[in-house]
Amino acid sequence: MTTSATDMPSTWLGLSEDHPFGLQTLPYGVFDAGSGRRVGVRIGECVLDLAAACARSRRIDAGLFARGSLDELLAAGPDTWAAVRGEVRTWLSDTNYRTALEPLLVPLEDVTMCLPFTVGDYVDFYASEHHATNLGRMFRPDQEPLTPNWKHLPIGYHGRSGTVVVSGEPVWRPRGQSRRPDGEIVVGPSTRLDIEVELGFVVGAPSPRGRAVPLDAFEQHVFGVCLVNDWSARDIQAWEYVPLGPFLGKSFATSLSPWIVPLEALQAARVRPPVRDPRPAAYLDDAATPSWGIDIDFKVALNGHVVSHPPFASMYWTGAQMLAHMTVNGSSLRTGDLFASGTVSGPGRDQRGSFIELSWGGTEPLILPDGTTRTFLEDGDEVVISATAPGPDGTMIGFGEVRGRIVSEPATAEGEAP
Ligand code: CA
Repeated sequence: MTTSATDMPSTWLGLSEDHPFGLQTLPYGVFDAGSGRRVGVRIGECVLDLAAACARSRRIDAGLFARGSLDELLAAGPDTWAAVRGEVRTWLSDTNYRTALEPLLVPLEDVTMCLPFTVGDYVDFYASEHHATNLGRMFRPDQEPLTPNWKHLPIGYHGRSGTVVVSGEPVWRPRGQSRRPDGEIVVGPSTRLDIEVELGFVVGAPSPRGRAVPLDAFEQHVFGVCLVNDWSARDIQAWEYVPLGPFLGKSFATSLSPWIVPLEALQAARVRPPVRDPRPAAYLDDAATPSWGIDIDFKVALNGHVVSHPPFASMYWTGAQMLAHMTVNGSSLRTGDLFASGTVSGPGRDQRGSFIELSWGGTEPLILPDGTTRTFLEDGDEVVISATAPGPDGTMIGFGEVRGRIVSEPATAEGEAP
């Protein structure tokens, strides 16, 4: 195989070679075109209805897509994932299928995207050295920015899966308890509402309790990735997080992009992660194995203005290391478990993946092109995180976007706000 763009089979949809949702990407999602939830795969600016396509082709078990969720496909495991992806590529590149499949392509503008799978446990890591260093400097200015454990293990905590929502869902400004600079304890709406730009890893095949998942089994268990905005209330977080870590400052909302990009689509984007010093424990040491650094370029836009370009290639710990660490104690995996990378921040000021970093704790407001300034998010603000990665043969992998708008406090129909 050479690496010219012409080696990539083309689709009868006639997409340009630089389209981020050509045959090289083929992410899965769940859409509703007005008659209920259906599983689809994105090609160009359309979604192919997979249950309907399987019913016509009969080479893939249509039962995988019968329930309007990715749950069955996720659970089916890597052999099935590869078989389905191969079949879909054949369908969309072989003109013999065109007549049968063309009526099953639904324009994206005619669908609403849904949360694509039943989210199991949600774990949030803290794998960017630049982000952890920046936060350490701000939260603990009198200490070393990185805690003594940081370069020995990927730090994480268990989040709240019940508040994981799909892109486009509104995000209500959370209420909570915080401590003002003068020491007064107050209860009220967060005044330091922030984003966290992250990559989410979606677990497909489960693992039994009592068995660690080694680095080289990452692709046997993780189906694919999506974009994550892990909304964070910094004032609530700063007051509550010692000693047990994040709690209500994080649990009110986590937004996912609707398209799950299979790991198989990211093979050409794999890069060596940064050198780890000190060398990690054997179960985390990927120096001698193909590692899972990924060259993904994120873009963050606030109210239409691009404010940052966080680079995922700069992450210290990989998804494979996160999975190995998460299971080294014998913890099991369930289909639909989600773990996120932690905020992606690069070394540059315009590569930071949160507003607390971009505004340096609120002391250096961003000036937007329209002349307004921001430290943290205001009601009505809309944040859109998007990303791309290199694909095979000079193509580009698209991830789509995760979008969310801040709305003022929710109604308190079930009782007075505290
Ligand atoms: Ca986070």
